[in-house]
Amino acid sequence: MQTSGTDETGSLKPAGPTVAGTVIDAHTHLFTVGLLEEVLSKEPPEAMKRFREGLKTRKWGRPGREQTLPEMTPQQCAAWYVGRLADAGVSRAVVMSVMSDSQWTRDFLAAANGHVTALCNVDPRDPGAPALLEREMAAGFKGVKLLPVNRCYRLSDPACRPFFEKASELRASICVHYGVTVDPTGDLRYADPIDLSPVSRDFPDIPFVIAHFGAGWFDSVLRLAYQCKNVCVDTSGTNNWMDYHVPKMTLSEVFERALTAMGPERVLFGTDAGTTAPYRTWIKYQQVRTLEEMGLSDRERDLILRGNAARIYHLDEVLEDA
Ligand SMILES: [Zn+2]
Repeated sequence: MQTSGTDETGSLKPAGPTVAGTVIDAHTHLFTVGLLEEVLSKEPPEAMKRFREGLKTRKWGRPGREQTLPEMTPQQCAAWYVGRLADAGVSRAVVMSVMSDSQWTRDFLAAANGHVTALCNVDPRDPGAPALLEREMAAGFKGVKLLPVNRCYRLSDPACRPFFEKASELRASICVHYGVTVDPTGDLRYADPIDLSPVSRDFPDIPFVIAHFGAGWFDSVLRLAYQCKNVCVDTSGTNNWMDYHVPKMTLSEVFERALTAMGPERVLFGTDAGTTAPYRTWIKYQQVRTLEEMGLSDRERDLILRGNAARIYHLDEVLEDA
């Protein structure tokens, strides 16, 4: 089917520059049957039990709230993903890959033609990490998503240094998930963003985006952001970490503290929408409404909802052919 965004073959036309006043979702996810099949084919049968179960049942999501895992080619999925964003009034999205070295994701990105971009997934301790990062950036990824809580490592570990040196050289932006996680294997000993301090200090040219306002470690994020001007936050997710935060804060108070500490150039809107459940339009509604009620200027709102993601994830730079 040809829509306004596709050519006669059904392929997506290349994305143009981002437009002021539109909304970019700086934190989404992608899970499909084909992607899981590829990842699991490289793992021993006993590994990644949760993923294996999802693939077997074609169901994905939080326990009790599983939904059907989409079964599409990367090209079909790209067109579907972009249509879903358009229906939600979102102009672009940045997918946070949780799978490493995935051809399925590279094919999806190529087909998405700039409408959806992504951060790759790399284990920064791996001696092969700099070379993998180089390949992924050449394939069109804009940076890296790191998961120290889920994978149990510290970014201050000297073993990660060659990876950060390569990230700096390649202008890769980095998003880090600290704090609480829905992943039952997560270890909160690795949850405090303060661990990033020597890294953000020593690599001031790398933008570090802490996901979900630090997911419960908000005070650490604010202190780190005071010390290192290259530390930013994304606002993505339900932000239900606020239920466990002392003292109690409202979402507008969280935004207010973040904006006071970091300014409007370092806060990026996101929903943390997955692929199986309906797109999280309510989070977009809630956050856009909160920013309106706070009385921010059009310029400040545009930075948070679009401009910062476009700048930090290089969305307005022409994609080089992979
Ligand atoms: Zn996420």
